[in-house]
Parts: sequence; C-alpha cells; structure tokens
Amino acid sequence: MELAFLGAGSAFCLTPGNFQSNMLLSSASGRRLLIDCGSDIRFALAASGLGPRDIDDVYISHLHADHVGGLEYLGFTSRFASPPFRINLYTSETLLEEMWVHSLSGGMRQAAGDQCTLVDFFDPRPIPPASCFEWEGISLELVPTRHVVGERSAMISFGLFFEIGGTSILLTTDTIFAPEDLGAYFERADLVFHDCETSSDPTGVHAHYNELVHLPASLKAKTWLYHYNDGDKPDARADGFLGFVLPRQTFVF
Ligand SMILES: [Zn+2]
Repeated sequence: MELAFLGAGSAFCLTPGNFQSNMLLSSASGRRLLIDCGSDIRFALAASGLGPRDIDDVYISHLHADHVGGLEYLGFTSRFASPPFRINLYTSETLLEEMWVHSLSGGMRQAAGDQCTLVDFFDPRPIPPASCFEWEGISLELVPTRHVVGERSAMISFGLFFEIGGTSILLTTDTIFAPEDLGAYFERADLVFHDCETSSDPTGVHAHYNELVHLPASLKAKTWLYHYNDGDKPDARADGFLGFVLPRQTFVF
C-alpha cells in the first residue's frame, strides 16, 4: 500500500510543481482512494500521470475549496465520459448535504437538461460521527479536528487515523495547533502527517511551524509536515521533525 502526496502546499500555493494538499492511497490491488479533491486536482493528477478514471474512491475531510473544489471536475468527467464511470464518495455524514447545497449544486444541478443531485454523479458513502470506514482491508477512523474556530461555532475537519502493515498513521488534515485534542492520537501513531503553516502572517486556522516546533522531541521525530506556504521554510530536520513532505513524495507501507 502506498500513500502519495499529489501536492503538499497550502490552499493558495503557487510554487511551480506543487499543488494543494491532496493525497492518494493506493492498494496492492491497484484501487485508488483520493484523500481530498481540491480545485487544483486536474493539474495535480496530471502531474502524477493520472486522470479521473484512475480514481475509484474519494474521501473529503471538510468543505474548503482546496479539499472539495475539484469534485465538479471529477463528477462531470466521470458522468459524461464514454463509457461513464462512477466514483464512491466517502465523507462524514454531517458534511454530505452541505457539500451538495453549498459547495457543488450551483455548478452541477443543471446537467444535460436534467435537474441533478449528488447521486447523479457519485455514490455517496456517508460515515456516521465517531466512526470509521473500511477500504481495501484497512479501517480509516475519522478524527475531528478544530479548523476554523469562532466564538460560537467551529468548522471541523475530519482527519484520518489508520494502520497499514503494522504502521499506525495520523493524517491531521486541516487543524489549528491543538495537541490537547490530538494527544491520544499522537501517542498511538507511528507516523504523523501534520498540517503546518509557514507564512510570516499566520491565519489562525492552521497549526503554525512556530507552534509545532515546541512539541516534544519524541513526537517531532515521527512527524512529517505538509500544507505549507510558498516561500522559504525553516530547517525542519534540524528542528527534529522528519521534514516537509515534497510534492509527489510517496510513502510505501
Ligand atoms: Zn481548510
């Protein structure tokens, strides 16, 4: 099984060759699960020599466009391909209606003269809260993370915790710096892939390098950083991390 980062950049990344932080989990049988599908996805897939027909399943962590904005591309190209094909769409059941009503329907509800809904493009696989889904013999547990935190509400992203071949992996997806929330997962994980902003002008909705660098050395020693900004980055290896993930970097388990 392989986990490949199609891109490792932030939402608005412009570094040539890098793309939004979407990943591809590939099984030994050749099945592919796209983890998040941002508005860069057609370029990110092409840069890895892939296209929509190479994707069997998609998982969406939350509804920012760098994670969901490429579904219109996948939905239209799969439905109107010759022959057409369908992609399974995994996401928290708490996101599914909002995904269609607020993220996708404006561009997709009118297609080929029909009034369409989400099921005309994808096979939705809603995942109950505090639950997991099975994919190619592995169990992927949803890990709620606080991403955009307001006074009365918070936008949650659903990270993933899973084990492949004896290696436990935490993929935070987008999150503020919240070791108090993620501590139990940090303990259990052999490998952590953590959201890491590197901008000199922090947004407050991502963990920033200047916060992550103060994590315990034992945790940094098993942590890769991704979702970083354009421009210069600190020397993460010198600071005790495994490093910044590179675009198209692939981890084999
Ligand atoms: Zn986000």
